[in-house]
Amino acid sequence: MVNNFPILVDRIKKDGLSLEGGILKVDSFINHQLDPQLLVDMCHEFNRRFDANSYNKILTVEASGIAPAVILGYITKKPVVFAKKKKPSTMENMLVTEVFSFTKNTTYQICVSGEFLKADDKVLFIDDFLANGKAATGILDLVKQANAHCVGMGFLIEKAFQNGGKLLRDQGIHVESLATISSLDNCTITIAE
Ligand code: 5GP
Repeated sequence: MVNNFPILVDRIKKDGLSLEGGILKVDSFINHQLDPQLLVDMCHEFNRRFDANSYNKILTVEASGIAPAVILGYITKKPVVFAKKKKPSTMENMLVTEVFSFTKNTTYQICVSGEFLKADDKVLFIDDFLANGKAATGILDLVKQANAHCVGMGFLIEKAFQNGGKLLRDQGIHVESLATISSLDNCTITIAE
């Protein structure tokens, strides 16, 4: 069910750009330049949608997920772990999985130290975009490898014309998206109602 957060929708309408190939560019407030006030507003909305007592840790992927994850972590006083896209040589007890990138058209590895993702962890995953759900699926694999539990997934923007949302919801995952885009056809941004 679509549940748009009006402040974000208004900002996408004002400053978002629809590029060829179904890519939404939000570089001026989410992906490159950041609007901290908007991030705080969005993370309060995540905090309304996910019961903070249901999770003990926030997980994200570098780089664009880190800003909202940290702000939600600040609001809820929870630690934030970001999956790394490069395997650090110093990391021990590493959990690794592969992710296909829609925007870059390549496969890459993401990893988390087993020190920071453990069997008793109840994890909330936060990321900027939900497209085909590849990053989210990789995160679910890391959570499974750790024998941890994913209590939900929060995305700033969901592209409903790609199948990630269905893929995750069909698995019974509690998915929340603050803005749902139904189409980027003809380089026009259409917000789902
Ligand atoms: P997925 O893994 O769900 O297929 O894609 C999600 C990831 O791809 C996000 O973390 C984001 O980095 C990137 N992504 C997918 N679609 C878009 C888009 O339209 N715009 C931008 N800026 N990033 C996107």
